[in-house]
Amino acid sequence: MIKRDFLSLQSRSFDLLVVGGGIYGAWAAYDAALRGLSVAIVEQGDWAGATSSASSKLVHGGLRYLETFDFKLVRKALHERQMLLEAAPHRVWPLRFGVPVYEDSRIGTMQMWAGLNLYDFFAGNLSHDLSHHHYNSSEFAGRFPFLAAEHLKSGFTYTDAQTDDARMVLELVAGAAAGGAACVNYCRLEELILEDGRACGARVRGQLAGSSAEIRARQIVNATGRWAATAGEGREWCRLSKGVHLVMVGPAPESALLLTAKSDGRVFFIIPWYGVTLLGTTDTDYSGDPEQVQVEPGEIEYLLAEANHYLKTAWTEKDVIGGFAGLRVMKRSHDSSPSAVSRDWEMKTSADGVHYSIGGKLTSAREDAAHIVDAVCAQLNVGTPCLTWGKRFPWAPEAGYAAWLDAALRRATELGIDPESAKWLVRRHGKRAGEILCNVENNRSLAERIIPTLPFIQADLIFCARNEMVVHLSDLLRRRLPLLILARVDEGLLQRIAAMVAPLLGWNEAEVKEEVCSCLAQVQEKNL
Ligand SMILES: Cc1cc2nc3c(=O)[nH]c(=O)nc-3n(C[C@H](O)[C@H](O)[C@H](O)COP(=O)(O)OP(=O)(O)OC[C@H]3O[C@@H](n4cnc5c(N)ncnc54)[C@H](O)[C@@H]3O)c2cc1C
Repeated sequence: MIKRDFLSLQSRSFDLLVVGGGIYGAWAAYDAALRGLSVAIVEQGDWAGATSSASSKLVHGGLRYLETFDFKLVRKALHERQMLLEAAPHRVWPLRFGVPVYEDSRIGTMQMWAGLNLYDFFAGNLSHDLSHHHYNSSEFAGRFPFLAAEHLKSGFTYTDAQTDDARMVLELVAGAAAGGAACVNYCRLEELILEDGRACGARVRGQLAGSSAEIRARQIVNATGRWAATAGEGREWCRLSKGVHLVMVGPAPESALLLTAKSDGRVFFIIPWYGVTLLGTTDTDYSGDPEQVQVEPGEIEYLLAEANHYLKTAWTEKDVIGGFAGLRVMKRSHDSSPSAVSRDWEMKTSADGVHYSIGGKLTSAREDAAHIVDAVCAQLNVGTPCLTWGKRFPWAPEAGYAAWLDAALRRATELGIDPESAKWLVRRHGKRAGEILCNVENNRSLAERIIPTLPFIQADLIFCARNEMVVHLSDLLRRRLPLLILARVDEGLLQRIAAMVAPLLGWNEAEVKEEVCSCLAQVQEKNL
């Protein structure tokens, strides 16, 4: 169980305070805790409450970055991808992609062939299953029967990987907590405490009871993503770009698709996730309020129009179940289009000694965070090297993943859990799925899905509510299990779920009502 304990921040001095509980903060805190530092991490809202739950969920090298000759970034990300597939087989799994080549495609067969060869080469020794394949038009159309086959010349498939971004963050926070870190969500950094111009701590405010605390820390890392980018020096260092995904009605295709938008030549994806389909993303400069990032009607129009160029049966707005929007932080550059700006990461250290994490990717956040913690250790005169490379994830089964998976799925089926829900249950919880299966054994009704269209069972909901530092209903339904974006939820459903978990979360009747209203407002405002 990960417990929120605001008091753990007080009357102690830490080696490191990490501000921001997205993927960068989570990796930095986990890495530092493994190296034996005393660590605190604070997050103003919920873990992964911002960009780290609004990504495309891909653990990938980024095939499209080959076009801008960003070989260093692709090689680095593919290196991390391969490691994560092994160290976290429950959290990061392979996903096959299709790339059709049409007569008018911007990238022709030869160029795509060369790019995919390079991509596989950068990924290292790949088995036949994981390397790319070329198909003629009829073979490719047979594999992707929902694609328009007219003017199709050929197609390729290649392998990347996929994850649940918010759960990855949570698992790393749990790892940091297990390593002794004080991990507190709903706790906002208000201001730094400076001594002789150097940051030596921070004033923080708990967002629940409104209590405040002074945290003393010898080193501070600011991993606040878009908030760092829109304050102080961050404005000079960073550029923001908005990315929107739509969630489309299933059934999802087995493989993902990489497509090119006809209107502007940008790459976008159609991706299966939890049995529905993600369509995205947009990539447009953003200068609005970092707190209010919403899916706009024009973005829905753009994505549907671009996807419909490729589909036999066009999608309409009625097929959109939901959507979510995120902001990429990128290094400031003079490129006119945000798509052309490098996604590589950078660390800046300001005059007061605070280390800022700028930009980056979910895929390569581990390596980037290791550089941050190296810098922290150098300041603290700590010689311990990074231990996160190749280390099994906190919830990964110890060894023999295939056999473990087989046994877990068999047991789940015996308990009456449908195969699709069982598959996602083990991906979501790793070895902790064993505890959930025990709960189902004691109460077979918990094997049922929460709603028929999504592979989340009731035992999962209850486990998350009980063990995963849930504060609000939206934490549970947006990030612990992403029901709010994957289904059309109504007040009745939210009330039913809130009533189920209220005793576990200590909510009274008025609080249940408030939680339901707040979730509904987020859905209606498309601010998810
Ligand atoms: C549309 C889109 C698609 C993407 N797809 C992919 C992909 O498929 N694969 C990939 O590898 N990468 C992808 N990325 C990039 C990746 O998602 C980001 O690089 C990553 O999530 C950034 O994480 P972060 O920790 O820097 O920021 P965030 O996740 O934004 O975390 C920053 C946190 O700091 C907190 N915070 C802010 N101010 C304070 C304060 N004062 N006190 C305490 N906490 C504070 C915020 O609440 C927030 O939770 C995508 C990005 C976008 C936008």
